[in-house]
Amino acid sequence: MEIKNVGSRGTLFTFHDLGIPTNVYVIHTEQHVYIIDTYLGPDIMKPVNQYIEELYSGKPLIIVNSHSHWDHVWGNSLYTSSLIISHTRCKENMRKDGLEELEKHKAYKRGQIILTYPNLTFTDKICFEEDSVLMYHTPGHTEDEISVLDLHDKVLFAGDNLERPIPYLMSKNLNQYINTLEGYLNLDTEIIIGGHTGCEDKNLIRHNLDYVKKVLLGDTTEFESGEYAEYHKTNMAWLSGFVAKKD
Ligand SMILES: [Zn+2]
Repeated sequence: MEIKNVGSRGTLFTFHDLGIPTNVYVIHTEQHVYIIDTYLGPDIMKPVNQYIEELYSGKPLIIVNSHSHWDHVWGNSLYTSSLIISHTRCKENMRKDGLEELEKHKAYKRGQIILTYPNLTFTDKICFEEDSVLMYHTPGHTEDEISVLDLHDKVLFAGDNLERPIPYLMSKNLNQYINTLEGYLNLDTEIIIGGHTGCEDKNLIRHNLDYVKKVLLGDTTEFESGEYAEYHKTNMAWLSGFVAKKD
């Protein structure tokens, strides 16, 4: 696990159990400590908790699930006495697919997973004004994706909407994804973090946007070879309906 300070009040925890980096992002405000995504289970979230306990002991925690996929929500059970916030559809998807995902990916469980659903959901946005933290619906990678904007530090946590080298498409509504990425470009942000990226700038948004637009236009030759090929092929299979579900 790597720990990186971001801006004046952010901490990025990056884990590598899945063979790709996966992030948990913490924002420390006057009133609360926000934990965005809970990774693979209660055991692996304990160092994050310990870190928070040492630095910010006693402050109420607010947990956020960027979307419903298993690699972002399995640690929720450690936080049953806290607010756990997500999009309404994220909770629905967890209820629908959670058990199947748990069985399918059980090799990655870190601790005993008790599927724990969000206890506060929204459809459009929710703003903690005193903390300058905004959560808002940003459908893209999935329909249930939300982003978290630290308005104080101008940091955007974009969940799996931003990926290297190109995003995984798991929603067929590409126009919606394009709207979300174009919206990111208009934000007054300097640091952008995806669910599996490092600390990025707007170039990654532009690159991901270029890809999604080209998929929509059917102009994807440049993504059919090299580092993109495998991701792109999976996306095409998904979009054409031959693959039931990706991770
Ligand atoms: Zn993910």
